[in-house]
Amino acid sequence: MGLGPGDPSLMTVRAVEVIAEADVVAYHSARHGRSIARSIAERHLRPDHIEERLVYPVTTETTDHPGGYRGAMEEFYAEAAERLAAHLDAGRTVAVLAEGDPLFYGSYMHMHKRLADRYPTEVVPGVTSVSAAAARLGKPLVEGEEVLTILPGTLPEEELAARLAATDAAAVMKLGRTFPTVRAALERSGRLADAHYVERATMSAERAAPLAEVDPESVPYFSMAVLPSRVELTDRADDAPAAADCGEVVVVGLGPAGPLWLTPEARGELAAAEDLVGYTTYLNRVPVRPGQRRHASDNKVEAERAEFALDLARRGRRVAVVSSGDPGVFAMATAVLEAASEDPYREVPVRVLPGMTAAHAAASRVGAPLGHDYAVISLSDRLKPWEVIAERLSAAAAADLVLALYNPGSRSRIWQVGKARELLLAHRTPDTPVVLGRDVGGPEESVRIVSLADLDPAQVDMRTILLVGSSQTRTVRRGDGTRIVWTPRRYPER
Ligand code: SAH
Repeated sequence: MGLGPGDPSLMTVRAVEVIAEADVVAYHSARHGRSIARSIAERHLRPDHIEERLVYPVTTETTDHPGGYRGAMEEFYAEAAERLAAHLDAGRTVAVLAEGDPLFYGSYMHMHKRLADRYPTEVVPGVTSVSAAAARLGKPLVEGEEVLTILPGTLPEEELAARLAATDAAAVMKLGRTFPTVRAALERSGRLADAHYVERATMSAERAAPLAEVDPESVPYFSMAVLPSRVELTDRADDAPAAADCGEVVVVGLGPAGPLWLTPEARGELAAAEDLVGYTTYLNRVPVRPGQRRHASDNKVEAERAEFALDLARRGRRVAVVSSGDPGVFAMATAVLEAASEDPYREVPVRVLPGMTAAHAAASRVGAPLGHDYAVISLSDRLKPWEVIAERLSAAAAADLVLALYNPGSRSRIWQVGKARELLLAHRTPDTPVVLGRDVGGPEESVRIVSLADLDPAQVDMRTILLVGSSQTRTVRRGDGTRIVWTPRRYPER
């Protein structure tokens, strides 16, 4: 049974009933013999209760067990389960005490896995330490569509940082010796300033403080880091004074489509931004958050959009400029940096966060066409003369590079693909495989493999990327009937 986080008055009525009905009361403890669970339940224990103390052979120290730490624990759980089974076989009811909730990082589950299929079992839920800590902070934990992430502090720092960056609210459990790592992860994910520390919530020695102010030496195991709801944090009125003298522009790559291809870092930055700036289509991919301002604009006004974002940052706002794919690949990062290289924006901080680029998403769908050297070329002649594009296509084709062709065409720009095909056919055989990836990862995804000779310009639009094979690129039909495309990493000797 779960006994709640510490204060005995937070035990459930059911937990008290179960102890009253039990013949045996079992609890885990370290070798020092003290048990927090027992102390919570103490007032309900009677002299006629049989107490079974399940003493861990090791906690964090080393062991000379031949099976190492795992072996020692395995043996301990097996023995403990058999001790409880002996009582159960004798017809006695056993109450296993668990601090908080028994199925939430609790020692009880090792008994559960060994016994619940053999004996009638009831699990009594308890108030978790996460609920207790949030209650003690007196702050909303998660609101609306916010996501709460619960993390063991024993994870590596990088893993913690990625999870913390990507979530709204979080509780990091199992502090103690892990505290410096957890603190570093909070700092790396930009969340340290919002982090709270709660020690022994609802117990007599309870303590809470801003996490950044906590002395790492003073942190026990029974403590936790909490990032509460951030709705209040970002919910700044439009005309509220800026939080800082100078804000920041972060250029964020959304990936080619969908949240699976959004990096945790990018997700975190989108949530933390006060202002979102971008082309309408891309901005629509970012979920609406209360308190954020959204500035959608037409695709063609990159320079104005960049200056607009930098102006907002100059006034102290935290601005995310969104791009599809990677923001450095034919996208907004350059426009922002171009403007930021000149007055009056030279002092505005700018960061670029990478994203998965369309070529890689499309390539993965058919196999590995980009497995060898390849060139990336935009077919749009809006910002460069067609002669330059034609020269580069011919040069790349002559060098036998695989080609990733971005911006191949649109409703108003259709002749480029036909022209490109003509140029490429001067260097490639007609059966060279071409991959047409359209809206890859999105709701209208279509990926087709055609031969260069059959490449039809009418099948190409703004949301299509073309991957053109080299002389070495192979198309293979596999056992299940699917066709794959790959380019070997070896190149023939000459
Ligand atoms: N920064 C983006 C590229 C912007 S240029 C990136 O790194 O992917 C816009 C072109 O990208 C489109 O014309 C198309 O060629 C390609 N593109 C972007 N997303 C795509 C997707 N999901 N599927 C296919 N092509 C895509």
